[in-house]
Amino acid sequence: MADFTRHELHPRGRIDHTLPPCSWDYLDPGGKDWLDNLALATCGNGHTCRIVSRVHTIAADGTLRPSYVCPYCSYHTTVRFVGWHQ
Ligand SMILES: [Zn+2]
Repeated sequence: MADFTRHELHPRGRIDHTLPPCSWDYLDPGGKDWLDNLALATCGNGHTCRIVSRVHTIAADGTLRPSYVCPYCSYHTTVRFVGWHQ
């Protein structure tokens, strides 16, 4: 289990932003395909990608299901988005 901390982007996160390793932020609801966007997150090796509702759900305590699999490297773990509330 890895705890990802929130890294607030200003303005709110867009899909072309990058975040520090093991962090997350909400995505701009006005962005493209926003209905599918849950969050933006970065793996332990610094790759930022979108978390989308077609693949994941995020529990009330921030636990991501299924586990986080980075599309760019071998990072694969159960992740909790600390501070998540939706
Ligand atoms: Zn990665």
